[in-house]
Amino acid sequence: MNDQLLEPEEHVLSTLEKDGSRRWIYPRLFQGKYWTRRRAVGYLLIIVFIALPHIKINSSPAFFLNIAKREFTIFGFKFLPTDTLLLAFFMISLFLSIFLLTALFGRVWCGWACPQTIYLEFVYRPIERLFCGTAGHGGKPHKSVPVIRRLMMYGAYLIISMVLAHTFLAYFVSVSELQRWVQQSPFTHPTGFLVMTATVVLMMFNFSFFREQLCTIACPYGRFQSVLLDRRSLIVSYDKQRGEPRGKISKQKTEETHGDCIDCGQCVRACPTGIDIRDGLQMECLHCTQCMDACDEIMVKVERPTGLVRYSCQDEIEGKPTKKLRPRVVIYPLLLLLSVSAFTVTLMNKKSFDVTVMRNYGNPFIVTDDDFVENNLQIKLVNRTDLPEEYQFELPEKTDVKMEIMGNTSLKARETKTIPLLVSAPRSSFVTGLREVELTIRSQKDSEERTVTCQLLGP
Ligand code: SF4
Ligand code: SF4
Repeated sequence: MNDQLLEPEEHVLSTLEKDGSRRWIYPRLFQGKYWTRRRAVGYLLIIVFIALPHIKINSSPAFFLNIAKREFTIFGFKFLPTDTLLLAFFMISLFLSIFLLTALFGRVWCGWACPQTIYLEFVYRPIERLFCGTAGHGGKPHKSVPVIRRLMMYGAYLIISMVLAHTFLAYFVSVSELQRWVQQSPFTHPTGFLVMTATVVLMMFNFSFFREQLCTIACPYGRFQSVLLDRRSLIVSYDKQRGEPRGKISKQKTEETHGDCIDCGQCVRACPTGIDIRDGLQMECLHCTQCMDACDEIMVKVERPTGLVRYSCQDEIEGKPTKKLRPRVVIYPLLLLLSVSAFTVTLMNKKSFDVTVMRNYGNPFIVTDDDFVENNLQIKLVNRTDLPEEYQFELPEKTDVKMEIMGNTSLKARETKTIPLLVSAPRSSFVTGLREVELTIRSQKDSEERTVTCQLLGP
């Protein structure tokens, strides 16, 4: 039996060996100018990520995604489940910003600001290099590292993962709730303890095992880059015209017969996703600039101009004319302006409470002995303020409609309450079985009012 492995005809995935096993990537570090800048941005962002749930704006956390209550607080603005329009405009603005940013600056988010890149490159990898050295060739450098050092490294990973898990969860359960979880016994809040443990395990799995595969396999953003980028978007690119034909430096080869690439492979060794930037734009490229730093260092050593691998765009690299202005960089900002304006106007027009009229279950209406038609409605009230509030229900001054409120109309801070309401109108006032009634609801403290139209059903 032929036990030879079938080999793919071409390169399949940078994180796979030819036999399909995991190819571990231990990139070599090049501390060039881009690395220094990225590290400064990275540490600044880590401070921001940790601080955001602790900072208070209008007595609420700057960033709090309360999934249990379906209430999102972003920079002092509270979004409730009833804010579907606001949420829609917010999401449209967010997507348009991503489209615009990518069209202009390529995957700058991935390389400079994504928490996955930042924590991996500036927290976990430095720890790994501290305990295991700076081998940086791919393969498995851990093999030669004493077990005690590896254990210490994973111990450090665990501590960092616990800190990160707490930071991450603070965005969803609030800092005060998290403090309560930490101070009490796990048996007092087993769900909280399980959530925390699962988050730590996920962090450990991601940063010590899954790593670059999150970007190359799991994250959808890289897959969208081919449609989001155009030929004039800023990308990390290798200057083929200058670099080719590549070849090792030797006495026989002259600068006339060879390009500037000396085929040293350092750009590949530096790459955290294990690709070769000389193969052109690839989905796995995070635009982390490590190959730029690597190549610049080599160019300085061989006394050639730096920038063989540099920030550029496809047209420029191919020597074609480049125009900054193109349809998508005009259309995206215009659409963004529209959606941000719509978001702002909707937000400014928000009242201190929301009202939704709903119909009760069961019979749609009852005809009474005095020839009135009764409709059982439900008024859903949402108090958006941080204070308790009392609401008043009013019908227009001159009306033939009667109303009976079947519940308490005071709401606690941020409370949502459904209040049953019995509305009756003379049978003769119904046209083809329908009758509209205007209902005004007024908040007593704010003196704000909202008028809603209730559709009554009749015979
Ligand atoms: S090719 Fe260069 S920019 Fe792209 S991921 Fe690799 S090192 Fe980073
Ligand atoms: S680091 Fe520069 S010179 Fe070396 S292989 Fe890469 S592109 Fe060529």
